[in-house]
Amino acid sequence: MANRKADDICPRPGRVDLGSTTPHAPPIVPTSVWECHDTEQSEALLNGAAAGYVYQRDGHPNADTLAAKCCELHRAERTVITSSGMAALAAAVLSLVKSGETIVASRRLYGRSLLLLGTETERLGIETRLVDSNDVAEVRGAAEQARMIVVETISNPTLRVAPLVELAEIAKETGALLLVDNTFATPALCRPLEWGAHLVMESISKSMNGHSDVMLGSLSGSEDLWGRVPQVVAAWGLASGPFDCWLAERGLATLAVRVERASANAQQVAELLTHHPAVERVDYPGLADHPDRAATEQLLSAGGSMVTFHLAGGLQAANRFIAAVREQIPFCPSLGETGTTISHPESTSHRGLTGEERAALGIDGGTLRLSVGIEQAATICELLQTALDARP
Ligand SMILES: *Cc1c(COP(=O)(O)O)cnc(C)c1O
Repeated sequence: MANRKADDICPRPGRVDLGSTTPHAPPIVPTSVWECHDTEQSEALLNGAAAGYVYQRDGHPNADTLAAKCCELHRAERTVITSSGMAALAAAVLSLVKSGETIVASRRLYGRSLLLLGTETERLGIETRLVDSNDVAEVRGAAEQARMIVVETISNPTLRVAPLVELAEIAKETGALLLVDNTFATPALCRPLEWGAHLVMESISKSMNGHSDVMLGSLSGSEDLWGRVPQVVAAWGLASGPFDCWLAERGLATLAVRVERASANAQQVAELLTHHPAVERVDYPGLADHPDRAATEQLLSAGGSMVTFHLAGGLQAANRFIAAVREQIPFCPSLGETGTTISHPESTSHRGLTGEERAALGIDGGTLRLSVGIEQAATICELLQTALDARP
């Protein structure tokens, strides 16, 4: 042993001795594989008879710690953590919908979700009918014999709030599963399962993690829907990575305070924008004239961190505004981080639509979407006020 050479010493991983005390910060466990004691144990682990880990794609400790937090946040029985928000949607559809079945989806869903529920699932023989998810009668008509209804709690970018109680009622009547994408709200503002949804998903990449440095998703629901979920995540390769899970758990530590502060800031921003002559319209669930005021008051504990506003003067005005603020409020087509960011839906999230389709959704060249952060409200308001006042 004393004379072992470097090529005998280095290739094998060393044993980590954690000492006799417990590390207070959670460890990251990046191993892709676990050592089994014998064939009896490997057999029991792989066929699910024993709890434990064998291969990271099928499950790992950092994902399980994060999933347990998501379960608690949503009062859910089961959560699977996936490699992205899109992977969470894929996991739901591939586990619970099959060829020949129909999905009813909101026309206002996130662009990539519409792609998944459009050409991607069409290739698998699954048909999607798009509806206005705020038109309860239209959803009821389309949901006859549907397998799944997919809506977002708060939609992008016009921040419509889905009538979850009525939609859950329709799901119950028709036997469809209601899947709610709760990315904009997070469980800090809304817990859709408590309003009758069967499944809730989040892009953890956004407000849940809150620092724009992670790609992850979550899907939560009840035990009775979970039969195929682990197998689908393993077979289609939708699993998460340990470091991302570790970062997201750290991000979640401040979820409640971040969302509370950002929502209070967003309320002030929305009110400032409403009163400025350069602004044609403001979409914010916390405003008294929001079209879904009743659903907002019923479902959300605050208005959320997103504020959308429409400048008179179209694309030119939007470009001037972005140029005026971008040093302090960067133009980033994502959302939910600690700092305030701005996005332009026409040229980013909704660029794939025709002008007519965008108009139907209430988006034009002058539409801007703020993801309000946790800075001092006065600082954000001052920046916006200066940029608006500087109009030619
Ligand atoms: C970003 C987003 C997704 C997709 O999540 P990723 O983590 O980017 O894959 C889904 N739904 C909504 C509402 C989103 O904003």
